Amino acid sequence: MKIQEIQIGKVSIPLKKPFKTALRQVNSAEDIIVKVIADSGEVGFGNAPPTAVITGDSQEAIVGAIRGTIGPKLIGMEIDNLEGIMSAIDTSMLHNSSAKAALDIAVYDLFGKLHGIPVYKLFGGYSQTITTDLTISVNSPEEMVRDSLEALAEGYTTLKIKVGTDAELDIQRVRAIRDAVGDDVEIRLDANQGWLPKEAVRTIRKFEDMGLRIELIEQPVKAHDFEGLKFVTDNVDTDIMADEAAFGPYEVFKLLSMSACDLINIKLMKAGGLHNALKIASLAETVGVQCMMGCMLESKIGITAAASLAAGKKIVTKTDLDAAVLLAEDPIVGGVAFHKNQLLVPDAPGFGITDVLGWQEIRA
Ligand SMILES: [Mg+2]
Repeated sequence: MKIQEIQIGKVSIPLKKPFKTALRQVNSAEDIIVKVIADSGEVGFGNAPPTAVITGDSQEAIVGAIRGTIGPKLIGMEIDNLEGIMSAIDTSMLHNSSAKAALDIAVYDLFGKLHGIPVYKLFGGYSQTITTDLTISVNSPEEMVRDSLEALAEGYTTLKIKVGTDAELDIQRVRAIRDAVGDDVEIRLDANQGWLPKEAVRTIRKFEDMGLRIELIEQPVKAHDFEGLKFVTDNVDTDIMADEAAFGPYEVFKLLSMSACDLINIKLMKAGGLHNALKIASLAETVGVQCMMGCMLESKIGITAAASLAAGKKIVTKTDLDAAVLLAEDPIVGGVAFHKNQLLVPDAPGFGITDVLGWQEIRA
């Protein structure tokens, strides 16, 4: 079975409520969706949400990279030659991790369909069910308390609170949420690069002194500031997770070599797809650093791909794959199934995705 054609399209999915972080606010999820079509007619689905503030990849850049550079290299390649395809994706051009991820995901889907195996089993099949947190957007403390209580009522047991806009207000926010939800709920924070290193240490120590029992804090400082991240990690008791800093395998190798963080957040759009995410998981596992599987604001294709890796690998102990439940509609037919905070990875071949409703082709 050879790759015969690659079609590029998109979906625009309204959100239930605006998504706000220290970096941006958005009202809908835009997702580029590729169909990698085999000569047998079988279709593999992949996706790439343009998240320029994190990956640097705009919609135009993703479409251009797939259509102009990476895609043509894959046409005619045997799908069984997974290693050759992934190597072609990696060496086709520098950067452009989202475009690479879209094609990588679609090829894994096709490979699974070709061999009649679900991708999570290909990755190790450690479990089939994973538990996700729910992200609470950064807003006034009152609104965040309301959103948190709503999440608990819906069955979530771990909340990921967006902070990093203002250290003083962040303390008020987290205090108010902890008081409202009680002690049984796990609270993790994501500062999205919002603090300076010393400010981060001061703020996190306050969280500790106030007994707020924060499970972990994601990316307290700027993505490029590995020394700053290490400074924070070395000077607080709370576990620090690298997210924007932990871009691809090389960055993760460097962070781990420096002991700059306690945990790694793997995202397919940063890593450039599943084949690189697997390398990150292996690097982390080698030194005993646990991973979280995260996502962008994206459709259920990328969520299913990420969930397949999280389910397959033992070292991925935490999951932040709530994007699909933030969406008001789900145009993806098949894929991962949600039951409250549980994700069930399908037993169908590939990612079990059969169609994308409302897919609009982007023609050259
Ligand atoms: Mg993050």
